Amino acid sequence: MNQPDSLHPFGRRDLPGGAALLNNPLLNKLTAFSEHERDNLRLRGLLPPRVFTMQEQERRSLIQFHRKDSALERYIFLTTLQNRNETLFYRLLLDHIEEMMPIIYTPTVGEACLEYGSIFRQPRGLWIGIRDKGRVAEVLRNWPNHDARIIVVTDGERILGLGDLGALGMGIPIGKLALYTACAGIHPYYCLPICLDVGTDNEKLLNDPLYIGLQQKRARGAAYDEFIEEFMRAMGEVFPKALIQFEDFGNSNAFRLLHRYQDRACCFNDDIQGTAAVALAGLMSAARLTKRPLREERLLFFGAGEAGTGIGEYFVSALKAEGVAEADARRRCWFVDSRGLLVRERGDQLPEHKAAFAQDGKFVKTFAEAVEQIKPTAIIGVAGVGKTFTTDILEKMAAYNERPIIFALSNPTSKAECTAEEAYASTKGRAVFASGSPFAPVKYDGTTYVPGQGNNVYIFPGVGLGALACQASAVTDSMFLAAARTLAAQVTDDDLAQGRIYPQLSSIRAISLQIAVSVAEEAYHNGLAHRQRPDDLAADIQSQVFNPVYQDYL
Ligand code: NAD
Repeated sequence: MNQPDSLHPFGRRDLPGGAALLNNPLLNKLTAFSEHERDNLRLRGLLPPRVFTMQEQERRSLIQFHRKDSALERYIFLTTLQNRNETLFYRLLLDHIEEMMPIIYTPTVGEACLEYGSIFRQPRGLWIGIRDKGRVAEVLRNWPNHDARIIVVTDGERILGLGDLGALGMGIPIGKLALYTACAGIHPYYCLPICLDVGTDNEKLLNDPLYIGLQQKRARGAAYDEFIEEFMRAMGEVFPKALIQFEDFGNSNAFRLLHRYQDRACCFNDDIQGTAAVALAGLMSAARLTKRPLREERLLFFGAGEAGTGIGEYFVSALKAEGVAEADARRRCWFVDSRGLLVRERGDQLPEHKAAFAQDGKFVKTFAEAVEQIKPTAIIGVAGVGKTFTTDILEKMAAYNERPIIFALSNPTSKAECTAEEAYASTKGRAVFASGSPFAPVKYDGTTYVPGQGNNVYIFPGVGLGALACQASAVTDSMFLAAARTLAAQVTDDDLAQGRIYPQLSSIRAISLQIAVSVAEEAYHNGLAHRQRPDDLAADIQSQVFNPVYQDYL
């Protein structure tokens, strides 16, 4: 059972008995403990007498889940189950991934974060406050699982499209890590969610007497940087094998931290790199529908932040790999931010991530004007502002292109630039549509279209699994580009026939495994892997994954 150097953490000798076993969600089987285990692990009497199978427990849990009549209630039900019995939680999640993913992640996780204080029942993860400065390593050592390998960390400043939620942002690392386990099979023992509480600038939270975080203004400048530096050093000391995923940081910090730490630690930023890879994969498979090669796309982004410029950079890398000159590739990416079209003529001081995409062209203020001027082949919404792809804009896209690409990626659903229905109806069913939050299939003019969800979950769990399995010392852009190509290759002709440019989520484990293999290949190729290369990489990675089935303890 215990395989050193692999991703299975437990040995039989670690097993507690009695109530301690029932209180350990990683080991608890609830009513599925056998008669023999009940007798020998001091459980007799602590459980109702009848022994159930996991399938029966799952059936009961599903009934309970469906009895909850709001998405938030369902979220609370699932997190309670996760805190009681992780094996059953992951079994349920994996078997009903399409139905439950929108509950444990977007869009419901957004609502859960907003309500995190009022639905708070049991702590999960580590909150490290800026007042813990000077003893961050000590706080990390309080985490009971001493070999954390995958850490998702946020400072709560830009939670989904909801803004600064401070300490309430913890729901995001928890949700993302649940997806690592469900979708890629990383054992929950290795997963550690962290919320760095550096204060908040959200007045509502600052004035809420029941707010669970530090009621002080967000630390900025040197105080913030020193705290992050201490955190990163402490991570290296306490969890030297860990991969760190930065999540939902405000955009000035997100870019800075990524640039500062990506060569010093095994880390990546999912909002920049994960989003970029999933959107690039979408553009690659869209090309099979539009019959336009990638190099002929003219992208117009609404929003020039982490997601938008990240996608732009990976698009440029993909074109460069096809032999297109970098300057020509950049000329195919246009951006509108809150001030208007990103052109040099604007003359403003631009941060590095935007400056790389400033174009020579005429300044216009609105997105609608930019659409008219640029005549893009694809519009990509990543500003976090809902309802901005109006009927007029969508009709223009249909007039300019036989198959316009419409990506409404802003989350949660209320922030989507347009709905799937609006995209198909305004383009007479010709749009190649994908969204950040899920939309139900749309019937238009006798045809049913299944909108793809450009969900980062297609990418980051596989990338994490690949990096952990080969013990990579870094996570590089080339690994994400490999992941994007692998994801695009998993889209079948059947998927495309329904308008779907991402594969079905029900195959997510197989998809993540393929991505993990391509990422590990890339790591071996670049000398970044620190585990001896096995003969059969796919079989080796597969052997390391966690499957939610009960072990016999005796
Ligand atoms: P960000 O804060 O880094 O960037 C937002 C950008 O939008 C900035 O450039 C800002 O100037 C621009 N903007 C804001 N208001 C605007 C307005 N009224 N008009 C024009 N531009 C405006 O945020 P981000 O990380 O890039 O995320 C943006 C959105 O993308 C969020 O809603 C997020 O949920 C979504 N997102 C989706 C996915 C996905 O679908 N896979 C992944 C990541 C992010």
